[in-house]
Amino acid sequence: MINRRHFIASVAGVAAAVAAGKSFAADKGLIGISMPTKSSTRWISDGESMVKEFTGMGYTTDLQYAEDDIPNQLAQIENMVTKGAKVLIIAAIDGSTMGDILKKAHDAGAKVFSYDCLITKTPNVDYYTTFDNFGVGVLQANSLVAGLKERFPSVKPWNVELFGGSPDDTNAGYFYNGAMSVLDPMIKDGSIKIVSGQMGMDKVGTLRWDGAVAQARMDNLLSANYTDKKVNGVLSPYDGLSRGIISSLKGVGYKPGAEMPIVTGQDAEIASVKGMNAGEQYSTVFKDTRELAKVTAKMVDIVLSGKEPEINDTKTYNNGVKVVPSYLLTPHSVGKGDIKAALVDSGYYTQAKVDN
Ligand code: BGC
Repeated sequence: MINRRHFIASVAGVAAAVAAGKSFAADKGLIGISMPTKSSTRWISDGESMVKEFTGMGYTTDLQYAEDDIPNQLAQIENMVTKGAKVLIIAAIDGSTMGDILKKAHDAGAKVFSYDCLITKTPNVDYYTTFDNFGVGVLQANSLVAGLKERFPSVKPWNVELFGGSPDDTNAGYFYNGAMSVLDPMIKDGSIKIVSGQMGMDKVGTLRWDGAVAQARMDNLLSANYTDKKVNGVLSPYDGLSRGIISSLKGVGYKPGAEMPIVTGQDAEIASVKGMNAGEQYSTVFKDTRELAKVTAKMVDIVLSGKEPEINDTKTYNNGVKVVPSYLLTPHSVGKGDIKAALVDSGYYTQAKVDN
């Protein structure tokens, strides 16, 4: 029988939990969610979606952003382990820096999920949830080629420059290789010319996915190679880089619309979606972070109940020590004409957000 004092205490406990924004059944354990930065809107959306999924399932969450500072991210994760997190979900700033802390985490019994950025050089990572990253690159290159055909039908060869993501993020290599699987044959047959000659991730990578770094490199490419010719297309793997590249292009006089080079992207960031509407960026790749959060939360729940979660890739993601069992979702290419169907009708953005 529940005595009155106990009843009042539990009511007070529930009230405190509700006041703290926690779920009633917040007793299934703590989930640590470590995100790299708030400077990209996608990670904000990932974090919010995961907190929603986990609290709905009765877990407590600790969501932290490290603002692209590696020691900060390691300290935040260490704190989650100390607090007794049962699972860590980590989108690493630099996937190769986690060895020591993840050993501690595994020794403490926590499971480790690598989230849309592979954690490397450690056996202490249990699962990887992500999108088909090679496929992202294929979509970007296909969209670049479609844009070149549409906007510059009579130009031969098309003058193109290449940008890669952060070399410390294995995804960047998959994006680049996927894109080059489409572009290489066209470079060989002469329909595309990389005027600067800069190819390969060692030459085109952009540390920390930094838009300012991309902008500075584009400034240099333009002044060194394009004083007497036009650039027709730029392969960009991420919206934040695309915006830097577009600023550089606008800086030397390219106008939005018919003469703007075809610039690709990724993540359907709101600033880039607006840029697509304004005739600046040509396309993006939409990765529905709500789905990634949902799949990840479901897998975590299954693992914590002692069962094996469904995975759909056991070959691709070798982290240098092991092949990490992965679940890959499907990315989608989005051009100006697809914004409503892909991003608004799906509820990812409101029409007002896209328009304003
Ligand atoms: C993610 C991309 C993102 C990039 C930059 C990668 O790890 O997979 O979606 O564009 O980081 O934030």
